[in-house]
Amino acid sequence: MSALGTVVPDVAAAAAGDLPPIARVAVIGAGTMGAGIAAQVANAGIPVLLLDIVPDGAADRDAIAKGALERLKKAEPAALMSRAAARLISPGNIEDHLDRIAGCDWIIEAVIERIDIKRALYARIDAVRRPGSVVSSNTSTIPLAHLVEGQSAAFAADFCVTHFFNPPRYMRLLELVGGPATSPVALERVRRFADLALGKSVVAAKDRPGFIANRLGVYWLQAAVVEAFELGLDIEAADAIIGRPFGIPKTGVFGLLDLVGLDLMPHVNASLAAALPAEDPFHEMNRPLPLVEQLIATGYTGRKGKGGFYRINREAGKRKEAVDLASGEFRPTRKPEIDALSVAGRDLRKLLSHDSVHGRYAWAVMGRTLTYAAALLGDAADTVEAIDEAMRLGYNWKFGPFELIDRLGAEWLAERIAASGWAVPAALQLAGGRTFYRVEAAHREVVGLDGAYRRLPRPPGVLLLEDVKLAGPPRLKNGSAAVWDIGDGVACFEFTSKMNSLDPDIMDLLGKTIRLVKKEFKALVIYNEGTHFSAGANLGLALFAANIAAWTEIEQLVAAGQQTYRALKYAPFPVVGAPSGMAVGGGCEILLHCDAVQAHAESYIGLVEVGVGLIPAWGGCKEMLHRWSTLGGLPHGPMPPVARAFEILGTATVAKSAAEAKELLFLRPTDGITMNRARLLADAKAKALSLVEGYTPPTPPVLTLPGPSGRVALEMALRGLGQQGKATAHDMVVCGALAEVLSGGADADILAPLSEDAVLELERTTFNRLVRHPGTLDRIEAMLLTGKPLRN
Ligand code: NAD
Repeated sequence: MSALGTVVPDVAAAAAGDLPPIARVAVIGAGTMGAGIAAQVANAGIPVLLLDIVPDGAADRDAIAKGALERLKKAEPAALMSRAAARLISPGNIEDHLDRIAGCDWIIEAVIERIDIKRALYARIDAVRRPGSVVSSNTSTIPLAHLVEGQSAAFAADFCVTHFFNPPRYMRLLELVGGPATSPVALERVRRFADLALGKSVVAAKDRPGFIANRLGVYWLQAAVVEAFELGLDIEAADAIIGRPFGIPKTGVFGLLDLVGLDLMPHVNASLAAALPAEDPFHEMNRPLPLVEQLIATGYTGRKGKGGFYRINREAGKRKEAVDLASGEFRPTRKPEIDALSVAGRDLRKLLSHDSVHGRYAWAVMGRTLTYAAALLGDAADTVEAIDEAMRLGYNWKFGPFELIDRLGAEWLAERIAASGWAVPAALQLAGGRTFYRVEAAHREVVGLDGAYRRLPRPPGVLLLEDVKLAGPPRLKNGSAAVWDIGDGVACFEFTSKMNSLDPDIMDLLGKTIRLVKKEFKALVIYNEGTHFSAGANLGLALFAANIAAWTEIEQLVAAGQQTYRALKYAPFPVVGAPSGMAVGGGCEILLHCDAVQAHAESYIGLVEVGVGLIPAWGGCKEMLHRWSTLGGLPHGPMPPVARAFEILGTATVAKSAAEAKELLFLRPTDGITMNRARLLADAKAKALSLVEGYTPPTPPVLTLPGPSGRVALEMALRGLGQQGKATAHDMVVCGALAEVLSGGADADILAPLSEDAVLELERTTFNRLVRHPGTLDRIEAMLLTGKPLRN
């Protein structure tokens, strides 16, 4: 993971803190992109006006923007992070409501890609906008210089291009382009807002066609398709080669085109071809492809259509089929046999030089793409890291092109390029036989256009464990976790196990960490830089233990988890959890025991144990009961919190954002949310430090639970679901057990509140009973095999 984001650092420093804030935004054009951008602005808690045209003869003049808002509410994956965000979007139309943009600090144009329409709109915007408000276009291909032609000087000073990627909530890249007239202050205002509020990694691109990611990405895709035709490859083989081996998602090229839509290709290619100079290598790759045209014409536009290069043949029992590039006919997919891959292993040089059609294909596509990438330095972007970040975040490549070149060696690559008869880009000489990136004095450095190394810029407020790791070894470490000193007296506990699953080693190291922090630190942060914070307890281990009837080991693991989380909660120093991605099961329970959480906005938190036939038994039931009794705002009495917790845990609810996690009380109202992934650790550390002065551990709560009468009420509801066919036989068993724990067990009574320990014991005994049940073991096994819950 990395974080760039310096467009004009001198201005950033000069204007630090006193730039006018962006408090209200307008988006004009409520199509795919405009609506998605408006949603992300609303996700940041900022009110946003969403305007579109008045459709001919429409009864409701706001119909388009209103329709877009309704679609946003139903979008999958969700575009909105919460219901509250939806309420921040005000739909309208450009005939009746354009004057409202006078109240906005940033006006984003996202109308169709037509320069005449965009220019006419700018003139109207300029007439009503507030002086100094920033105006930007989301154009993907039209140069800024053409867009501002004929507009006022004031407009040109406040205008830039902000190129978002689809879908705007999830794609972290934002390409920011200024023109010669754009004021650095306008650029810096947008950059800062996009970084802090919208969570984007802002990359400075130059005013060139397609900017960075699409200029290179479209070339790469086109080269991969053209060369697959030339060399007569199966598309499965093409995807297997131009995918995983290079750290590219396994959809490869044809799979990716199916995902984005084949019909987009001709438009993007045509507009790039029209805009790029005649000598650009893109033209050589931009050849007519009759088969692709035929696929589009017959409705094979990709996953949104009847299928694309791949399709599911429903008449043949949902068989997956691939198009044959030579005949144009669909045939069942086949597993490609690729010697070049087995011979090369992880050695990319070997793959690119393998004497086979597959080796030649790898070189024809990736050799060309890396050559083009090197040629874009100084043309599309002025820094190596901007090009790498654009491909990592715009196309989900694990490594940017220059990182790949470093793995191959720039000199080796230059020789191969020359041997292929292509022009060797000057940039390959920049590092003078060295790598583009290096580590020097515990810092990552990168070569600049002048050939000198400089530190990779990290904006203030960005702290990454990957950087901390360069400074020295961890303070503690075992096979599943490590502890790092992140400065200012704060330690960071990192899971390092597979999928960050929780196992006895993690519990063991947490125990040691508590002792270390007590002696040498002020506070602890629990954080890692994996895609997912934690997938929960290691189920493979649990199933293995169950299969050999090692019940004592399982019981010990449950008890150890309870004790460790309890010790964390009552440790004499503040503990802050900082999740991003999935934090489920035991990964959620550890957060429930922290003094505070600073969550990445894209955190998906939940207690999903019932899905594998279990109940939360590392204090999850206990903490949720406590939260719903104290923070839930529910009607008085012991039953409402129990019923609410039962509903959430019994359906294995996972919050689809940090904002939703607050609604479900997986997070407290006081917990923090960070929009930008790269800022999460610094924010969590700051939160931990803010708790240090006068810190006292929480007082153990007592829980007033209804006992058997409450259990009966929950079971009645459960039976109803069973009768309607909404709960399976094993659901009845598992949720019945959950009902017993949440209601406090056989001896609970509203007049006799229970201690935390009593509820923990109930969790433990119930878990130990369920884990021996064959229905539960079937669920665990199915989850491990298929990744999906079994409905037995
Ligand atoms: P779209 O066709 O989904 O939506 C365009 C919207 O603009 C429509 O709702 C249309 O009614 C509206 N519109 C047309 N003329 C208008 C006017 N004069 N005033 C107000 N609204 C008007 O298009 P999109 O895919 O959302 O693309 C919008 C812009 O974003 C384009 O410039 C496109 O190049 C760019 N872009 C698209 C993507 C993508 O993946 N779709 C990605 C990045 C950038």
